[in-house]
Amino acid sequence: MRGKNISQIKKTKPAKNITVYGWVHVIRDLGNIKFILLRDISGTIQTVILKKNQAVFKKSAKLTPESVVRLTGQLKKQKQAPDGVEILVQSIKILSLALPELPIPVIEKTKAQTAQSKRIDWRWLDLRKPQKQLVFKVWTEMERAMRQYFLENNFIQIYSPKLMSSPSEGGSELFELPYFKTKAFLAQSPQFYKQMAMAAGLERVFEAGPVFRAEPSFTSRHATEFTSYDFEMSFIQSHQDVIAVEEQMLKSMLKAVQEKYGQLIKKQYNRELVVPSIPFPQFTMKQAKAILKKLKVPGPKPGDLTPEEEKALSRYVLEKYNHEFVFITQYPASVRPFYHMRLKNNPRLTKSFDLLFCGLEITTGAQREHRFQMLKTQAKKSGVSLKFIKDYLNYFKYGCPPHGGAGIGPARIVMKILGEKNIQETTFVHRGVKRLRP
Ligand code: ATP
Repeated sequence: MRGKNISQIKKTKPAKNITVYGWVHVIRDLGNIKFILLRDISGTIQTVILKKNQAVFKKSAKLTPESVVRLTGQLKKQKQAPDGVEILVQSIKILSLALPELPIPVIEKTKAQTAQSKRIDWRWLDLRKPQKQLVFKVWTEMERAMRQYFLENNFIQIYSPKLMSSPSEGGSELFELPYFKTKAFLAQSPQFYKQMAMAAGLERVFEAGPVFRAEPSFTSRHATEFTSYDFEMSFIQSHQDVIAVEEQMLKSMLKAVQEKYGQLIKKQYNRELVVPSIPFPQFTMKQAKAILKKLKVPGPKPGDLTPEEEKALSRYVLEKYNHEFVFITQYPASVRPFYHMRLKNNPRLTKSFDLLFCGLEITTGAQREHRFQMLKTQAKKSGVSLKFIKDYLNYFKYGCPPHGGAGIGPARIVMKILGEKNIQETTFVHRGVKRLRP
């Protein structure tokens, strides 16, 4: 196993026989002396090969950028080196020689990157860029903090099945697949199982897992397979309890990312990560529409927001309240699923919400309808076949507490943390309508 990585080596005192592993990032050949900038996940270090060390010098002639090597040598202070240290190479082992022509550059020559679809074709080469690797370091810290928040607040982790027997919520966005003598569907969300957990008395659950949507969308924010963070909690008074938990969870997530990677994000993405203050601004859909009308933003979808409206609303909130987040509540029942609870004094509106982060929807949540008869009536009204939701309806027959929860899109959050414009950049390997490889 490798010992210290590059960043750790750079912190050690000058010494002989230091071994370093990595990729050949840059080769600079000055005739009698060669500089190889070596890269691993933790950073880069300058290494030097002198002509007088003939065996090594000769071997290094074969080296191509992006080859993987093991170098051994003397770690020295060197004022002219990028970080004030370098390794004078005494031996070299080529572990994997890269072909001389790279299909896409790892070091982009200009600010404009290689076309996205080409970069995604060669995703693993694109991901060698330190800037791209930061995406997953940020994601890892974000998820760690998410888990910590939920664990500290008595949530239990569940893993719900992704193979389903019936089209549950609605048919249009479902992937269907052969399943022995019958067919199965890939889960569009863990929704029904989170609610089953409430009926099971787990009281507070969360899940981080894949969801599948057969949506023919070619937008910068949709994937056909993506990771979702979901939580569900019992004994709530209203969707405001769900909102309060999400605010705290997001705040602790962003704070953790800020503390660990704030400086690197600033350096590599030129973006200031702001830890949001609580409570986040909130508008009902009606209020949001009135604001948008004043701003003269067209609203072709009554009771729902277009991406342009979401962006305009976020801009407004940033200017007026200096906040990057905004909750929109009380969506009309007509644009929400049958299981969202209706307002007591106005059944045309739901106890539901979306959360926008810098102009992009990152969450849908709601208090769910837990009263069996009411749920059945709402399903019928929404045209959902009771046959398909038979198992689901059973959860509510034998005692089920009032509950609610939310589904959150982490790839979209990372997009906004880093100011990336496309979800493909913040997903390890994207799956879309026309993207099933690599
Ligand atoms: P949108 O309106 O953007 O299509 P949605 O209303 O269908 O999203 P939900 O079903 O409420 O989204 O899912 C909850 C969250 O999951 C969304 O807020 C978003 O963060 C994320 N999400 C939904 N669909 C996708 C997708 N196709 N690709 C990536 N993330 C998604």
